[in-house]
Amino acid sequence: MTEFGFIETIRRRFADLPSNAFEGIGDDCAVLPVGGGESLLFTSDLLTEGVHFLRAATSARELGGKALAVNLSDIAAMGARPVATLLSLALPADAAGRWAEEFMEGYHALSARYGVALVGGDTTRSEGGITINVTAIGRCADRCIKRRSDARAGDTILVAGVLGASGAGLRDLLAGRYDTSLAALHRNPEPQVDEGQWLGEREEVHAMMDLSDGLASDLGHILDRSGLGAEVETARIPVAEGADLRTAACGGEDYKLLLTAAPDAAGRLAADFAARFGTPLYPIGRITAGSGVKWLRDGEPVALDWQGFSHY
Ligand code: ADP
Ligand code: MG
Repeated sequence: MTEFGFIETIRRRFADLPSNAFEGIGDDCAVLPVGGGESLLFTSDLLTEGVHFLRAATSARELGGKALAVNLSDIAAMGARPVATLLSLALPADAAGRWAEEFMEGYHALSARYGVALVGGDTTRSEGGITINVTAIGRCADRCIKRRSDARAGDTILVAGVLGASGAGLRDLLAGRYDTSLAALHRNPEPQVDEGQWLGEREEVHAMMDLSDGLASDLGHILDRSGLGAEVETARIPVAEGADLRTAACGGEDYKLLLTAAPDAAGRLAADFAARFGTPLYPIGRITAGSGVKWLRDGEPVALDWQGFSHY
């Protein structure tokens, strides 16, 4: 069974249980309205040695930053502000001392940058590799929450940065080239924490998520949850320097925001975004009726076997 097939089975199996006011499985975060026009948001991500990282190819400090960054990205993806995390570590004996201290240094530095508290977790011994689980908690005004399910037909699809750098960096790492700038980008993703909150405030932004599994896979989640389709002009996909188009579309872990916005307001939104953050919002296509992504080259449909990304 695929990862998404398994998640869908879980979702159905547990649908008989009370939701206790939560919006459940299927978005970047679970959402709990807490009154006063606000909600708390919860997300959890697991990093496991040999699957998500190779110990020889990353420093402990970098991994501490990345373990937190990928969770902050999911909070930002819904327009929320990260407020706290819980951190659980399973550490083999050879990572329990200095390695763990350096890991915590990286985790602390990124926590400090965004004013995020560390409020709990668990620590245990591992007989295998290192496993890291982070749960992040965010807070958001209800009116600012951006869901995957809120795309509308006609919306412009935008990406908040160039794509493919992380995938190209992974290629370098797997070839044993640990010291390239792309490999460094792969190890040190920058979650769009301020950008996500800023986009959350904008009413013309309808659906949003973060790109962790690659555009080709992740756009599909917005389409499935919104019950719509899309046309994407492949020439408009912003490709990072050193990457190619296929990696930009299929490589994972860029952690850039993917959003849909009212077409008449998208130009203004992009201009304001550029003025605020100094980087463009790239329009790559539009939401349509139907289902699935239609890839275009110069306006004509092209058959591409593009799929999302799986780890090492
Ligand atoms: P993301 O890439 O944003 O972290 P995923 O694609 O990993 O999201 O997960 C999709 C959805 O499935 C999310 O809502 C996530 O919370 C949920 N999910 C993933 N694994 C599980 C699980 N084992 N049990 C319950 N929900 C899960
Ligand atoms: Mg996500």
